[in-house]
Amino acid sequence: MSADCLFCRIVAGDIPATVIHETDRVLAFRDIAPQAPVHVVVIPKDHHPDLNSLTVADPALAAELLGVVGDLARTEGLSHGHRVVFNTGADGGQSVFHVHAHLLGGRALGWPPG
Ligand code: AMP
Repeated sequence: MSADCLFCRIVAGDIPATVIHETDRVLAFRDIAPQAPVHVVVIPKDHHPDLNSLTVADPALAAELLGVVGDLARTEGLSHGHRVVFNTGADGGQSVFHVHAHLLGGRALGWPPG
């Protein structure tokens, strides 16, 4: 837990979120500013700043997180496809430095992203 981390505060219940899935180690909630009809943020409950630090520190947790993303793609009805994004670092567009997957879908998503 990092006291000044927004997503740690969501895990702790200090900040409300629309949680759609929770396991012992992973939490998924709807993005507050959705970029697609389905836009879910999937995080490990433990604080890791970004994907690369997570995969080094706890590869089993990284795999578990990806498993939850796959489960949610099914339960959210994204049978026509979806996108999974890990913005990493400032140039990667990351604004919350607690690793998270964006699960996006529900419409045809353009490429390259805008
Ligand atoms: P990133 O820019 O990749 O770090 O993504 C951070 C995401 O967190 C953005 O898509 C935000 O809209 C989302 N976000 C920020 N605050 C909240 C919140 N309180 N509840 C849900 N999503 C949030």
